[in-house]
Amino acid sequence: MEFKDKLAVVTGASRGIGRAIGDALTRRGAMVIENDILDFNGKKCKIGASGEDFYRFDVSRSQDTKKAFEKILKKHGRIDFLVNNAGITRDCLLLRMKDEDWERVIEVNLKGTFNCTRAVLGSMIKNRYGKIVNICSVVGLTGNPGQANYAASKAGIIGFTKAVAREVASRNININAVAPGFIETEMTYKLSPAVRQQLKKQIPLGRFGKSEDVAEVVCFLLSEAADYITGQVIQINGGMYM
Ligand code: NAP
Repeated sequence: MEFKDKLAVVTGASRGIGRAIGDALTRRGAMVIENDILDFNGKKCKIGASGEDFYRFDVSRSQDTKKAFEKILKKHGRIDFLVNNAGITRDCLLLRMKDEDWERVIEVNLKGTFNCTRAVLGSMIKNRYGKIVNICSVVGLTGNPGQANYAASKAGIIGFTKAVAREVASRNININAVAPGFIETEMTYKLSPAVRQQLKKQIPLGRFGKSEDVAEVVCFLLSEAADYITGQVIQINGGMYM
């Protein structure tokens, strides 16, 4: 898979799965524009600050997202690939879940995917070319106690992916989702050793996945080898859900 001359935007690329996707695309020759919201000391950044190939904006904020994509398009002329990876969890049993826990997770995960996709789609339609991969989760397919907000956001991304795939297929734009199981990142480091042990027992391959396991499948979906795949959800979960 070679991505020479392709321009990719990867959201939430400062660490974890997004970082691995950015690295995998760069290794294959793509120019990668990355995004996150914190600076390297973990402080919230001034929204809208941008470096050469790094744009800091909160994907949940429509106007900031729109402006960032306009800047990228003005500078580079086109965007070939978008990977909607930015995502958060705010876990809590439903009866104790606060409005803000529900709203923030839906805003970042689902509305963020909507904001970025909408911001890029016009130019992809004009170019009659584009590939989009949305990162959802096994939890959007199976549910998980304590994650009603997260599961709803990820299930929402699946419906969104299929609807948009039907809207833009005639314009040579493919949009798919990948549904990772439990992957070794900061998001899962938070789990207690007992919970991790319990979860591993449910995974036939007997381990959590690596960010690279997800990145390789994303690269496949962005490649020419996947030109006839759209509106699909590819699972990367060690067999925990079949
Ligand atoms: P992570 O290590 O927590 O990284 C999340 C990334 O998203 C960070 O770069 C973070 O930026 C960025 N981000 C968070 N809120 C943002 C916002 N409002 N605007 C822009 N960027 C934002 O998470 P991860 O485990 O790599 O997860 C990546 C994606 O995979 C998420 O969508 C997650 O739901 C999904 N996923 C993960 C797993 C897993 O087991 N890890 C399983 C299934 C699905 P800052 O550094 O600025 O905070």
